Amino acid sequence: MSDTCFDDLQTSAAAIEARLGISRREFTQFCATTATTLGLAAGSETAIAQAVQSAKRPSVIWLHYQECTGCSESLLRAEHPTLEKLILDTISLDYHETLMAAAGHQAEAARKSAMAANKGKYVLVVEGAIPTKDNGIYCKVGGHTAMDLVKECAADAAAVIAIGSCASWGGMPSTGPNPTGSSGVAKVLGKPVLSIPGCPPNPYNFLATVVHFLTFGTLPALDSLGRPLFAYGRIVHENCERRAHFDAGRFAMEFGDEGHRKGYCLYKLGCKGPETYANCSTIGFGDVGGSNWPVGCGHPCIGCTEQGIVFTKPIHALANLRSATPPASYPGVVEQQGQTSFAAGAAMAAIAGAAAAATAMLTKNLGKSAAEAPQPKDE
Ligand code: SF4
Repeated sequence: MSDTCFDDLQTSAAAIEARLGISRREFTQFCATTATTLGLAAGSETAIAQAVQSAKRPSVIWLHYQECTGCSESLLRAEHPTLEKLILDTISLDYHETLMAAAGHQAEAARKSAMAANKGKYVLVVEGAIPTKDNGIYCKVGGHTAMDLVKECAADAAAVIAIGSCASWGGMPSTGPNPTGSSGVAKVLGKPVLSIPGCPPNPYNFLATVVHFLTFGTLPALDSLGRPLFAYGRIVHENCERRAHFDAGRFAMEFGDEGHRKGYCLYKLGCKGPETYANCSTIGFGDVGGSNWPVGCGHPCIGCTEQGIVFTKPIHALANLRSATPPASYPGVVEQQGQTSFAAGAAMAAIAGAAAAATAMLTKNLGKSAAEAPQPKDE
């Protein structure tokens, strides 16, 4: 970063310090981390700092339909208070059914007045699936169906964000036999929307999306399913901290067995990381330190960002392997899970040019039963 950019960023940070109540250091870290998460060019953190400190925050209308409110919970009950504060101070949350004090007619009036005051400029966020069967009568708010409300609110929105797997494609409510005809926002509106799937979605991905909109006035680049590429461009498996074990053919065969306790790969316990696009293995979850995501805690990835995997494919079913080629380098090994020496050794072997051997070992062991698989040894 040039001195000028650095000075600008420091000035911006000083200005926002008072508003957000976070330290300059935390704010500069936030801007730099967000720029990195979004894959932006060097120097973009200055633009982000200037955009976030802007007095005019985008108005957000947040609707809730068929869901558990877990998406809002994950956004607002982050372990680290800075995240919640940044979200609430970066946007103007003008309508949110589970957070606002107003109720009944007052709530409806608040929604309509926020929409009128920010016509064509507000961001519509939808949490939850939308029932479409029998003209949508299975979910009504203020006497109107969810179907009608989402169409009304989307008509004058600058951007529409479907947050969570339910809003993205129907999620849990759409699981067969789907008695209410639950659908995602894009299907109901008949046009693509930005989707941040996950059950729940990662709050950083929502915040980074909003910051991108705030900074550049546009939404980030999307994949064919409407997901931001910065967050859903790679499969979980590529950056998993257990990947070295996968490539070496070392698998946990049962929950609680020695391989499981030693942090071996969870593929044979049904981990869907090899077919799930998400950045959980890169940025973690819940802001509580290392191993703060399902695989890090010893549970297989359930593919919660992917339609047709979570809530559909049994947890014990094996994932389809999109690629068995070991990466050129490996993420850090989680030391508290043990086997640092083994995993590090496997990584070094791959880096040193033994990738082909690792692939061969993996291929060999993938087809073995629990009895045939190599047993972990104390090191
Ligand atoms: Fe990680 Fe799951 Fe891939 Fe194993 S199968 S390396 S636990 S993502």
